[in-house]
Amino acid sequence: MEKIKEDVLILGGGMAGLRAAIAAAEYNPKLSVGLVSKLYPLRSHSVSAEGGTSAVLNPKDSFDLHSYDTIKGSDYLGDQDAIEEFVRLVPEQIYTTDHWGCPWSRNPDGTISQRDFGALSFPRATFAADKTGFHVMQTLFSRAMKYNIHFYNEYFATKLILNGGQLNSVTTIDLRTGNFVVFQGKALIFAMGGAGRLYQFATYAHSVTGDGDGIAYRAGIPLKDMEFIQFHPTGLVPSGILITEAARSEGGYLLNSKKERFMGTYAPHKFETASRDVVSRAIMWEIEAGRGVKGEYGDMEYVYLDMRHIADKLDERLPMITEIAKKFNGIDAHTELVPVHPATHYTMGGIDSNVKTTTSVPGVFVAGENACVSIHGANRLGSNSTNECLALGNVAGIAAAEWAVSHSVPDLDVAQVNDEEKRIWEDMLKRDGGENIAKIREDLRINMDKNVGVFRTADPLRNSLKNIAALKERYEKITIQDKADTFNLELEWAFEVGFMLDLAEIITAGALQRTESRGAHYRRDFPDRDDANFMKHTIATYSKDGPVLTYRPVVVTKWQPTVRSY
Ligand SMILES: Cc1cc2nc3c(=O)[nH]c(=O)nc-3n(C[C@H](O)[C@H](O)[C@H](O)COP(=O)(O)OP(=O)(O)OC[C@H]3O[C@@H](n4cnc5c(N)ncnc54)[C@H](O)[C@@H]3O)c2cc1C
Repeated sequence: MEKIKEDVLILGGGMAGLRAAIAAAEYNPKLSVGLVSKLYPLRSHSVSAEGGTSAVLNPKDSFDLHSYDTIKGSDYLGDQDAIEEFVRLVPEQIYTTDHWGCPWSRNPDGTISQRDFGALSFPRATFAADKTGFHVMQTLFSRAMKYNIHFYNEYFATKLILNGGQLNSVTTIDLRTGNFVVFQGKALIFAMGGAGRLYQFATYAHSVTGDGDGIAYRAGIPLKDMEFIQFHPTGLVPSGILITEAARSEGGYLLNSKKERFMGTYAPHKFETASRDVVSRAIMWEIEAGRGVKGEYGDMEYVYLDMRHIADKLDERLPMITEIAKKFNGIDAHTELVPVHPATHYTMGGIDSNVKTTTSVPGVFVAGENACVSIHGANRLGSNSTNECLALGNVAGIAAAEWAVSHSVPDLDVAQVNDEEKRIWEDMLKRDGGENIAKIREDLRINMDKNVGVFRTADPLRNSLKNIAALKERYEKITIQDKADTFNLELEWAFEVGFMLDLAEIITAGALQRTESRGAHYRRDFPDRDDANFMKHTIATYSKDGPVLTYRPVVVTKWQPTVRSY
């Protein structure tokens, strides 16, 4: 067993993790900062962020407007104190990354350009064409090279070990060698991203499997609001690759099979730029009403995204999605219609946290999609995640560095570490029940798409819980056929699927108990929002018999819940 100690330990090398690492290193250059990632950082999912990052830069815009848009977008489930503080932290991050070399798109006068995005009342999405994530990640990664940051790339974290409720260590497998490596830090930051790949039709990278949520949950750190999963209206059919919301905010239309522009029926003011939950449901209702397109892409019905009338903008402002439509579907978006269908896109829930990025364990912080602050409540606004990664990644980095300065690394809990090592080599790798991990994963995803999707009802949700229980039993009987030490992906999948099964159970249980419709959580059997009973966050805590759900009131400062329409 190899042991590595750092002052600040960060799990995750995406936008939140990298931003946190830079902040910790800048706070005190004498601190050692270790960043552990199952992927090379520039392969993290963040590189695929497309359309933009909301920030109040224009004097005609305001923090109150950004807060209000976010709160209304959240369907009043976001904590308003956290949102008000968050929006004030963002502009500095845009200017800082600009100074570090991020090629933000500019206006002719040289100022940073901003565009409209779904459900914004002011065009505040700062962007780098439609490759925002790619450019921000390149900027952060090259900046990180300046500091004393140790990168542990392709190390897979399996477990957080606490001792008496205090941070002790994190166990990992070095994927290149198969070595079992234990990390210790004076402070720890979770920045391990979302969990969207527990659905089949998704815009996410295949690596986004909720490991961070799963690891924290099993260690006893509560998760919050996991039933709120975002479905983005325009996943390209049949691959699910994202066609950015900017395609609609730049003027693209949605058309049904009759070539009617239908969004006016569902969002008479905002049309295609209503919030994502509203547009996704509208597409599904059109399909259910028989106005979906049955075409050349298998069973999935879809609607069209029409960008022909904005063809002159495609090459400059939307080059990536134009290329994606061409490469993956052979479609020229300048002259042809693009097939789209709602796809899983964002995990509003995550590790229970706040705008200071703390968790229930002292010295353990969380940032990015792994966290539930709650800024996004029941529905995240497009362009409100990358800014969270930057702003709260920075907060987490500073907070962890402050903590590390006045704390020491505890003695290693050798007994628990040994148990984890045994679990991997003597349990997981030696199970021999013949079940195939890829098949269990596929069945889980099909179950989630079918039973816990855009529309939810009690019976399918109950079926989902039964299916997950059966899948958990099958999971106990897996056979990992690959016994190799190096890059044993089957073993990695086994860990990921283990986390996904826990999370699927929490999502479904939370969705079943929330007998109302709010944001992305739409119950056909309870179609109205129920503020009297559900202005509260769902907190899921681990027990060996399944998640224990409790509730906590939403913080309201000055925006009382009202009817939400676009
Ligand atoms: C296609 C797409 C486009 C998007 N476009 C936008 C946009 O334009 N604007 C916007 O605001 N938001 C956008 N989003 C959302 C946004 O991109 C993400 O929420 C954000 O990038 C997440 O960053 P992160 O750092 O939290 O996680 P990630 O970038 O997912 O990074 C997670 C890190 O954790 C590591 N990790 C995970 N598990 C383990 C493990 N077991 N062991 C070790 N390391 C592990 C990974 O290696 C990775 O480095 C988009 C999302 C999608 C799907």
